[in-house]
Amino acid sequence: MKRKRVVILGATGSIGESALKVACDIPERMEIAGLAANSNAEKLAAAANQTRAPFVCLVDKTKIDMLRNALDYKPRIFSGEVGLREIASLIDADMVLVAIVGTSGLRPALAAIEAGKDLAVASKEILVMAGEIVVREARANGVHILPVDSEHNAIFQCLEGKRSTSKSESLSLDVSDVRRIILTASGGPFRETPPKDFDSITPEQALKHPTWNMGPKITIDSATLFNKGLETIEAHWLFGVEMKRVEVVIHPQSIVHSMVEFADGSTLAQLSYSNMRFPIQYAVTWPDRVPNSLPPLDFSTLSKLEFFTPRYDDFPALNLARRAGETGGTLPAVMNAANEIAVAAFLDRQVRFPDIWRIVEEVMDRHMPVAHADLDAILGADQWARAQARECVEALKR
Ligand code: NDP
Ligand code: MG
Repeated sequence: MKRKRVVILGATGSIGESALKVACDIPERMEIAGLAANSNAEKLAAAANQTRAPFVCLVDKTKIDMLRNALDYKPRIFSGEVGLREIASLIDADMVLVAIVGTSGLRPALAAIEAGKDLAVASKEILVMAGEIVVREARANGVHILPVDSEHNAIFQCLEGKRSTSKSESLSLDVSDVRRIILTASGGPFRETPPKDFDSITPEQALKHPTWNMGPKITIDSATLFNKGLETIEAHWLFGVEMKRVEVVIHPQSIVHSMVEFADGSTLAQLSYSNMRFPIQYAVTWPDRVPNSLPPLDFSTLSKLEFFTPRYDDFPALNLARRAGETGGTLPAVMNAANEIAVAAFLDRQVRFPDIWRIVEEVMDRHMPVAHADLDAILGADQWARAQARECVEALKR
Protein backbone atom coordinates (compact mmCIF):
# COMPACT_ATOMS: atom_id res chain seq x y z
CA MET A 1 0.00 0.00 0.00
CA LYS A 2 1.52 3.23 -1.15
CA ARG A 3 1.78 6.44 0.83
CA LYS A 4 0.43 9.19 -1.37
CA ARG A 5 2.24 12.51 -1.60
CA VAL A 6 -0.47 15.14 -1.90
CA VAL A 7 -0.34 18.86 -2.74
CA ILE A 8 -3.27 20.81 -1.29
CA LEU A 9 -4.35 23.89 -3.25
CA GLY A 10 -6.61 25.88 -0.92
CA ALA A 11 -4.96 24.55 2.24
CA THR A 12 -6.38 27.33 4.45
CA GLY A 13 -10.01 26.73 3.49
CA SER A 14 -12.68 24.46 4.88
CA ILE A 15 -11.74 21.54 2.57
CA GLY A 16 -8.05 22.27 3.13
CA GLU A 17 -8.53 21.99 6.91
CA SER A 18 -10.38 18.69 6.54
CA ALA A 19 -7.64 17.38 4.24
CA LEU A 20 -4.99 18.24 6.84
CA LYS A 21 -6.99 16.29 9.42
CA VAL A 22 -7.10 13.30 7.06
CA ALA A 23 -3.31 13.49 6.67
CA CYS A 24 -2.95 13.49 10.48
CA ASP A 25 -5.38 10.61 10.78
CA ILE A 26 -3.81 8.27 8.21
CA PRO A 27 -0.11 9.30 8.11
CA GLU A 28 0.91 5.92 6.73
CA ARG A 29 -1.22 6.62 3.61
CA MET A 30 -1.06 10.39 3.12
CA GLU A 31 1.88 12.73 3.15
CA ILE A 32 1.72 16.47 2.50
CA ALA A 33 3.98 17.31 -0.44
CA GLY A 34 2.91 20.94 -0.76
CA LEU A 35 0.46 23.53 0.54
CA ALA A 36 -0.97 26.56 -1.25
CA ALA A 37 -3.32 29.41 -0.37
CA ASN A 38 -4.26 32.82 -1.66
CA SER A 39 -3.42 35.42 1.01
CA ASN A 40 -3.85 33.97 4.48
CA ALA A 41 -0.12 33.86 5.32
CA GLU A 42 -0.53 33.05 9.00
CA LYS A 43 -2.87 30.14 8.54
CA LEU A 44 -0.75 28.76 5.72
CA ALA A 45 2.38 29.04 7.88
CA ALA A 46 0.64 27.27 10.77
CA ALA A 47 -0.36 24.40 8.47
CA ALA A 48 3.16 24.24 7.03
CA ASN A 49 4.80 24.27 10.46
CA GLN A 50 2.55 21.43 11.53
CA THR A 51 3.04 19.25 8.44
CA ARG A 52 6.63 20.28 7.51
CA ALA A 53 5.50 20.49 3.87
CA PRO A 54 8.64 20.84 1.74
CA PHE A 55 6.91 23.21 -0.73
CA VAL A 56 4.62 26.12 0.14
CA CYS A 57 2.87 28.64 -2.14
CA LEU A 58 1.15 31.91 -1.33
CA VAL A 59 -0.42 33.59 -4.35
CA ASP A 60 -0.42 37.07 -2.79
CA LYS A 61 3.16 38.28 -3.23
CA THR A 62 2.73 41.16 -0.78
CA LYS A 63 2.35 38.65 2.07
CA ILE A 64 5.42 36.54 1.34
CA ASP A 65 7.53 38.20 4.07
CA MET A 66 4.76 37.62 6.57
CA LEU A 67 4.71 33.95 5.53
CA ARG A 68 8.49 33.62 5.80
CA ASN A 69 8.52 35.20 9.27
CA ALA A 70 5.80 32.89 10.54
CA LEU A 71 7.53 29.70 9.32
CA ASP A 72 9.72 27.85 11.81
CA TYR A 73 11.54 25.83 9.10
CA LYS A 74 12.72 26.52 5.56
CA PRO A 75 10.49 25.06 2.86
CA ARG A 76 10.85 26.15 -0.77
CA ILE A 77 8.40 29.02 -1.29
CA PHE A 78 6.47 29.79 -4.48
CA SER A 79 4.26 32.80 -5.11
CA GLY A 80 1.85 34.28 -7.63
CA GLU A 81 -0.28 32.40 -10.09
CA VAL A 82 2.82 30.99 -11.72
CA GLY A 83 3.85 29.62 -8.33
CA LEU A 84 0.47 27.97 -7.99
CA ARG A 85 1.00 26.17 -11.29
CA GLU A 86 4.53 25.19 -10.24
CA ILE A 87 3.46 23.67 -6.93
CA ALA A 88 0.68 21.84 -8.81
CA SER A 89 3.30 20.18 -11.03
CA LEU A 90 5.89 19.09 -8.42
CA ILE A 91 7.96 16.08 -9.34
CA ASP A 92 7.70 14.99 -5.72
CA ALA A 93 3.89 14.71 -5.71
CA ASP A 94 1.47 11.96 -6.72
CA MET A 95 -1.79 13.84 -6.37
CA VAL A 96 -3.08 17.39 -6.33
CA LEU A 97 -6.18 18.24 -4.29
CA VAL A 98 -7.87 21.25 -5.89
CA ALA A 99 -9.82 22.99 -3.13
CA ILE A 100 -9.65 26.59 -4.27
CA VAL A 101 -12.95 28.40 -4.19
CA GLY A 102 -14.12 29.76 -7.56
CA THR A 103 -12.42 29.42 -10.90
CA SER A 104 -8.78 30.19 -9.98
CA GLY A 105 -8.14 26.46 -9.62
CA LEU A 106 -8.60 25.78 -13.33
CA ARG A 107 -5.12 26.62 -14.64
CA PRO A 108 -3.26 24.89 -11.80
CA ALA A 109 -5.53 21.85 -12.26
CA LEU A 110 -4.62 21.70 -15.95
CA ALA A 111 -0.94 22.13 -15.04
CA ALA A 112 -1.22 19.19 -12.62
CA ILE A 113 -2.85 17.02 -15.29
CA GLU A 114 -0.16 17.94 -17.80
CA ALA A 115 2.48 16.95 -15.22
CA GLY A 116 0.77 13.56 -14.87
CA LYS A 117 -0.59 14.07 -11.34
CA ASP A 118 -3.82 12.46 -10.29
CA LEU A 119 -6.39 15.09 -9.41
CA ALA A 120 -8.69 15.10 -6.40
CA VAL A 121 -11.29 17.71 -7.27
CA ALA A 122 -13.29 19.62 -4.69
CA SER A 123 -13.54 22.78 -6.80
CA LYS A 124 -16.68 21.94 -8.77
CA GLU A 125 -16.51 25.32 -10.50
CA ILE A 126 -13.64 24.16 -12.69
CA LEU A 127 -15.59 21.13 -13.93
CA VAL A 128 -18.65 23.27 -14.53
CA MET A 129 -16.80 25.85 -16.58
CA ALA A 130 -14.36 23.59 -18.41
CA GLY A 131 -15.48 20.00 -17.78
CA GLU A 132 -15.00 18.98 -21.40
CA ILE A 133 -11.39 20.22 -21.42
CA VAL A 134 -10.46 18.89 -17.98
CA VAL A 135 -11.83 15.42 -18.74
CA ARG A 136 -10.25 15.32 -22.20
CA GLU A 137 -6.84 16.39 -20.87
CA ALA A 138 -7.02 13.89 -18.01
CA ARG A 139 -7.71 11.13 -20.48
CA ALA A 140 -4.94 12.26 -22.82
CA ASN A 141 -2.43 12.32 -19.96
CA GLY A 142 -3.62 9.08 -18.34
CA VAL A 143 -4.43 10.65 -14.99
CA HIS A 144 -7.32 9.86 -12.68
CA ILE A 145 -9.84 12.41 -11.51
CA LEU A 146 -11.08 11.51 -8.05
CA PRO A 147 -14.19 13.41 -7.01
CA VAL A 148 -14.11 14.96 -3.53
CA ASP A 149 -17.50 16.65 -3.61
CA SER A 150 -19.43 14.33 -1.28
CA GLU A 151 -22.19 13.54 -3.79
CA HIS A 152 -19.79 12.71 -6.60
CA ASN A 153 -17.57 10.74 -4.30
CA ALA A 154 -20.68 8.76 -3.34
CA ILE A 155 -21.62 8.15 -6.97
CA PHE A 156 -18.04 7.16 -7.73
CA GLN A 157 -18.22 4.61 -4.92
CA CYS A 158 -21.55 3.26 -6.24
CA LEU A 159 -20.12 2.93 -9.77
CA GLU A 160 -16.72 1.81 -8.69
CA GLY A 161 -17.17 -1.90 -9.12
CA LYS A 162 -17.52 -1.14 -12.79
CA ARG A 163 -14.43 0.98 -13.11
CA SER A 164 -11.01 -0.07 -14.23
CA THR A 165 -8.13 1.06 -12.02
CA SER A 166 -5.71 1.05 -14.91
CA LYS A 167 -4.27 4.46 -15.78
CA SER A 168 -4.91 4.07 -19.48
CA GLU A 169 -8.61 3.67 -18.83
CA SER A 170 -8.97 6.65 -16.53
CA LEU A 171 -12.50 7.97 -16.47
CA SER A 172 -13.78 5.30 -18.82
CA LEU A 173 -16.68 4.32 -16.62
CA ASP A 174 -19.26 1.98 -18.01
CA VAL A 175 -22.49 3.89 -17.47
CA SER A 176 -24.49 2.12 -20.16
CA ASP A 177 -26.68 0.38 -17.58
CA VAL A 178 -27.06 3.43 -15.35
CA ARG A 179 -30.62 4.67 -15.57
CA ARG A 180 -30.33 7.67 -13.26
CA ILE A 181 -27.81 9.39 -11.08
CA ILE A 182 -29.64 10.83 -8.09
CA LEU A 183 -27.87 13.66 -6.29
CA THR A 184 -29.07 14.34 -2.78
CA ALA A 185 -29.40 17.91 -1.50
CA SER A 186 -30.00 18.99 2.07
CA GLY A 187 -32.30 21.74 0.76
CA GLY A 188 -30.35 24.35 2.72
CA PRO A 189 -31.69 26.63 5.46
CA PHE A 190 -34.70 27.80 3.40
CA ARG A 191 -36.04 24.41 2.40
CA GLU A 192 -39.42 25.25 3.92
CA THR A 193 -39.35 29.06 3.64
CA PRO A 194 -42.25 30.48 1.59
CA PRO A 195 -41.17 32.62 -1.41
CA LYS A 196 -42.83 35.71 0.07
CA ASP A 197 -40.12 35.72 2.76
CA PHE A 198 -37.16 35.39 0.36
CA ASP A 199 -36.63 39.18 0.01
CA SER A 200 -35.90 39.60 3.69
CA ILE A 201 -33.29 36.79 3.96
CA THR A 202 -30.03 38.14 5.43
CA PRO A 203 -26.48 36.89 4.73
CA GLU A 204 -26.29 35.70 8.35
CA GLN A 205 -29.38 33.50 7.90
CA ALA A 206 -28.13 32.17 4.56
CA LEU A 207 -24.72 31.35 6.04
CA LYS A 208 -26.29 28.99 8.63
CA HIS A 209 -26.25 25.64 6.86
CA PRO A 210 -28.33 22.98 8.63
CA THR A 211 -26.00 20.00 8.09
CA TRP A 212 -22.62 21.01 6.60
CA ASN A 213 -19.93 23.39 7.82
CA MET A 214 -18.31 24.91 4.69
CA GLY A 215 -16.78 28.07 3.20
CA PRO A 216 -19.10 31.08 2.65
CA LYS A 217 -19.49 30.85 -1.16
CA ILE A 218 -20.62 27.23 -1.23
CA THR A 219 -22.85 27.82 1.80
CA ILE A 220 -24.79 30.53 -0.06
CA ASP A 221 -24.88 28.24 -3.12
CA SER A 222 -26.44 25.57 -0.93
CA ALA A 223 -29.13 28.03 0.16
CA THR A 224 -30.04 29.05 -3.43
CA LEU A 225 -29.61 25.44 -4.69
CA PHE A 226 -27.03 26.70 -7.20
CA ASN A 227 -24.63 24.34 -5.45
CA LYS A 228 -26.82 21.42 -6.51
CA GLY A 229 -27.22 22.93 -9.97
CA LEU A 230 -23.45 23.17 -10.34
CA GLU A 231 -23.23 19.58 -9.11
CA THR A 232 -25.58 18.28 -11.82
CA ILE A 233 -23.17 19.66 -14.45
CA GLU A 234 -20.20 18.34 -12.47
CA ALA A 235 -21.77 14.84 -12.50
CA HIS A 236 -22.50 15.11 -16.23
CA TRP A 237 -18.78 15.62 -16.99
CA LEU A 238 -17.27 13.38 -14.33
CA PHE A 239 -19.39 10.34 -15.14
CA GLY A 240 -20.15 10.97 -18.80
CA VAL A 241 -23.93 10.84 -18.44
CA GLU A 242 -26.40 13.16 -20.16
CA MET A 243 -27.95 15.91 -18.06
CA LYS A 244 -31.38 14.29 -18.34
CA ARG A 245 -30.12 11.24 -16.45
CA VAL A 246 -28.90 13.39 -13.52
CA GLU A 247 -31.67 14.07 -11.00
CA VAL A 248 -31.90 15.80 -7.64
CA VAL A 249 -33.76 14.76 -4.52
CA ILE A 250 -34.00 16.74 -1.29
CA HIS A 251 -32.75 14.74 1.68
CA PRO A 252 -32.60 17.00 4.76
CA GLN A 253 -30.58 14.61 6.95
CA SER A 254 -27.51 14.55 4.61
CA ILE A 255 -26.78 10.91 5.42
CA VAL A 256 -27.33 9.40 1.97
CA HIS A 257 -24.75 11.29 -0.10
CA SER A 258 -26.11 10.23 -3.49
CA MET A 259 -27.42 7.22 -5.38
CA VAL A 260 -27.18 5.40 -8.67
CA GLU A 261 -30.18 3.63 -10.18
CA PHE A 262 -29.34 0.85 -12.63
CA ALA A 263 -31.27 -0.57 -15.60
CA ASP A 264 -32.71 -3.40 -13.51
CA GLY A 265 -34.27 -0.99 -11.03
CA SER A 266 -31.70 -1.60 -8.30
CA THR A 267 -30.36 1.48 -6.57
CA LEU A 268 -27.02 1.74 -4.80
CA ALA A 269 -26.38 4.48 -2.25
CA GLN A 270 -23.46 5.59 -0.10
CA LEU A 271 -24.12 6.62 3.50
CA SER A 272 -22.07 8.25 6.23
CA TYR A 273 -22.24 11.21 8.59
CA SER A 274 -21.74 14.56 6.85
CA ASN A 275 -18.02 15.10 7.25
CA MET A 276 -15.81 15.92 4.25
CA ARG A 277 -13.03 13.80 5.71
CA PHE A 278 -14.85 10.71 4.39
CA PRO A 279 -14.73 11.68 0.68
CA ILE A 280 -11.29 13.29 0.96
CA GLN A 281 -9.82 10.16 2.52
CA TYR A 282 -11.40 7.92 -0.08
CA ALA A 283 -10.07 10.08 -2.93
CA VAL A 284 -6.58 9.77 -1.43
CA THR A 285 -6.58 6.05 -0.59
CA TRP A 286 -8.61 4.83 -3.58
CA PRO A 287 -8.89 2.04 -4.56
CA ASP A 288 -8.15 0.96 -0.96
CA ARG A 289 -10.26 1.49 2.13
CA VAL A 290 -8.37 2.06 5.36
CA PRO A 291 -9.45 2.45 9.00
CA ASN A 292 -9.63 5.95 10.51
CA SER A 293 -10.89 7.75 13.61
CA LEU A 294 -14.22 8.83 12.09
CA PRO A 295 -17.42 7.58 13.71
CA PRO A 296 -19.41 5.06 11.65
CA LEU A 297 -23.18 5.45 11.42
CA ASP A 298 -25.11 4.60 14.55
CA PHE A 299 -28.42 3.30 13.17
CA SER A 300 -30.03 3.26 16.60
CA THR A 301 -30.01 7.07 16.56
CA LEU A 302 -30.91 7.56 12.88
CA SER A 303 -34.64 7.73 13.35
CA LYS A 304 -35.58 8.81 9.83
CA LEU A 305 -34.24 9.41 6.36
CA GLU A 306 -36.56 11.62 4.31
CA PHE A 307 -36.68 12.35 0.58
CA PHE A 308 -38.62 15.11 -1.20
CA THR A 309 -38.94 16.55 -4.69
CA PRO A 310 -37.15 19.93 -4.99
CA ARG A 311 -39.27 23.11 -5.22
CA TYR A 312 -38.14 23.83 -8.80
CA ASP A 313 -40.33 26.93 -9.26
CA ASP A 314 -39.34 28.58 -5.98
CA PHE A 315 -35.61 27.78 -6.36
CA PRO A 316 -34.91 28.36 -10.09
CA ALA A 317 -31.20 27.45 -9.83
CA LEU A 318 -31.80 23.80 -10.77
CA ASN A 319 -33.63 24.67 -13.99
CA LEU A 320 -31.01 27.28 -14.91
CA ALA A 321 -28.25 24.73 -14.37
CA ARG A 322 -30.08 22.15 -16.46
CA ARG A 323 -30.38 24.66 -19.27
CA ALA A 324 -26.68 25.55 -18.97
CA GLY A 325 -25.59 21.91 -18.85
CA GLU A 326 -27.78 20.86 -21.78
CA THR A 327 -26.69 23.81 -23.92
CA GLY A 328 -23.05 23.32 -22.93
CA GLY A 329 -20.24 25.30 -24.58
CA THR A 330 -19.63 28.58 -22.78
CA LEU A 331 -23.04 28.76 -21.03
CA PRO A 332 -22.06 26.83 -17.85
CA ALA A 333 -19.02 29.13 -17.40
CA VAL A 334 -21.30 32.14 -17.81
CA MET A 335 -23.78 30.79 -15.25
CA ASN A 336 -20.99 30.04 -12.80
CA ALA A 337 -19.28 33.43 -13.14
CA ALA A 338 -22.54 35.40 -12.87
CA ASN A 339 -23.40 33.39 -9.77
CA GLU A 340 -20.05 34.19 -8.17
CA ILE A 341 -20.59 37.93 -8.65
CA ALA A 342 -24.21 37.71 -7.46
CA VAL A 343 -23.24 35.77 -4.32
CA ALA A 344 -20.52 38.30 -3.47
CA ALA A 345 -23.01 41.16 -3.97
CA PHE A 346 -25.54 39.44 -1.71
CA LEU A 347 -22.92 38.86 1.00
CA ASP A 348 -22.03 42.54 0.62
CA ARG A 349 -25.73 43.45 1.14
CA GLN A 350 -25.93 45.11 -2.28
CA VAL A 351 -28.68 42.83 -3.59
CA ARG A 352 -31.40 40.64 -2.07
CA PHE A 353 -31.30 36.85 -1.85
CA PRO A 354 -33.67 36.15 -4.82
CA ASP A 355 -31.69 38.66 -6.92
CA ILE A 356 -28.98 35.99 -7.15
CA TRP A 357 -31.27 33.90 -9.39
CA ARG A 358 -32.42 37.00 -11.33
CA ILE A 359 -28.86 38.13 -12.05
CA VAL A 360 -27.74 34.70 -13.22
CA GLU A 361 -30.79 34.27 -15.46
CA GLU A 362 -30.43 37.74 -16.95
CA VAL A 363 -26.74 37.19 -17.78
CA MET A 364 -27.49 33.74 -19.26
CA ASP A 365 -30.26 35.28 -21.40
CA ARG A 366 -27.84 37.88 -22.75
CA HIS A 367 -25.21 35.30 -23.72
CA MET A 368 -24.71 33.76 -27.15
CA PRO A 369 -23.11 30.41 -26.25
CA VAL A 370 -20.10 29.10 -28.18
CA ALA A 371 -20.16 25.31 -28.62
CA HIS A 372 -17.11 23.14 -27.76
CA ALA A 373 -15.30 26.26 -26.59
CA ASP A 374 -11.53 26.21 -26.05
CA LEU A 375 -9.93 27.52 -22.87
CA ASP A 376 -9.59 31.09 -24.19
CA ALA A 377 -13.25 31.21 -25.20
CA ILE A 378 -14.29 29.88 -21.79
CA LEU A 379 -12.13 32.33 -19.87
CA GLY A 380 -13.39 35.13 -22.16
CA ALA A 381 -17.01 34.16 -21.46
CA ASP A 382 -16.22 34.04 -17.72
CA GLN A 383 -14.89 37.62 -17.80
CA TRP A 384 -17.76 38.82 -19.96
CA ALA A 385 -20.30 37.29 -17.57
CA ARG A 386 -18.66 38.93 -14.56
CA ALA A 387 -18.93 42.36 -16.20
CA GLN A 388 -22.56 41.72 -17.16
CA ALA A 389 -23.41 40.51 -13.67
CA ARG A 390 -21.81 43.61 -12.13
CA GLU A 391 -24.05 45.71 -14.39
CA CYS A 392 -27.08 43.80 -13.13
CA VAL A 393 -25.94 44.32 -9.53
CA GLU A 394 -25.72 48.07 -10.14
CA ALA A 395 -29.24 48.10 -11.55
CA LEU A 396 -30.64 46.14 -8.60
CA LYS A 397 -28.65 47.82 -5.83
CA ARG A 398 -30.61 48.45 -2.67
P1 NDP B 1 -13.08 28.26 1.59
O1 NDP B 1 -13.63 29.62 1.26
O2 NDP B 1 -13.22 27.75 2.97
O3 NDP B 1 -11.52 28.21 1.21
C1 NDP B 1 -11.07 28.66 -0.03
C2 NDP B 1 -9.59 28.31 -0.20
O4 NDP B 1 -9.19 28.72 -1.50
C3 NDP B 1 -8.68 29.05 0.77
O5 NDP B 1 -7.59 28.23 1.09
C4 NDP B 1 -8.21 30.26 -0.04
O6 NDP B 1 -6.98 30.82 0.41
C5 NDP B 1 -8.04 29.61 -1.40
N1 NDP B 1 -8.11 30.54 -2.50
C6 NDP B 1 -9.09 31.43 -2.79
N2 NDP B 1 -8.80 32.11 -3.92
C7 NDP B 1 -7.60 31.65 -4.34
C8 NDP B 1 -6.75 31.97 -5.42
N3 NDP B 1 -7.07 32.92 -6.31
N4 NDP B 1 -5.60 31.29 -5.55
C9 NDP B 1 -5.24 30.34 -4.66
N5 NDP B 1 -6.01 29.99 -3.60
C10 NDP B 1 -7.17 30.64 -3.45
O7 NDP B 1 -13.74 27.29 0.53
P2 NDP B 1 -14.16 25.73 0.74
O8 NDP B 1 -13.03 24.98 1.32
O9 NDP B 1 -15.49 25.66 1.35
O10 NDP B 1 -14.37 25.30 -0.78
C11 NDP B 1 -13.29 25.07 -1.66
C12 NDP B 1 -13.83 24.40 -2.92
O11 NDP B 1 -14.33 23.12 -2.57
C13 NDP B 1 -15.00 25.16 -3.57
O12 NDP B 1 -14.90 25.02 -4.96
C14 NDP B 1 -16.23 24.41 -3.07
O13 NDP B 1 -17.31 24.48 -3.98
C15 NDP B 1 -15.69 22.99 -2.97
N6 NDP B 1 -16.40 22.16 -1.99
C16 NDP B 1 -16.39 22.50 -0.68
C17 NDP B 1 -17.04 21.71 0.26
C18 NDP B 1 -16.97 22.03 1.72
O14 NDP B 1 -17.43 21.23 2.53
N7 NDP B 1 -16.42 23.15 2.13
C19 NDP B 1 -17.80 20.53 -0.15
C20 NDP B 1 -17.72 20.25 -1.56
C21 NDP B 1 -17.04 21.04 -2.44
P3 NDP B 1 -6.99 32.05 1.50
O15 NDP B 1 -7.45 31.45 2.78
O16 NDP B 1 -5.57 32.46 1.54
O17 NDP B 1 -7.92 33.08 0.96
MG1 MG C 1 -21.55 18.61 -2.61
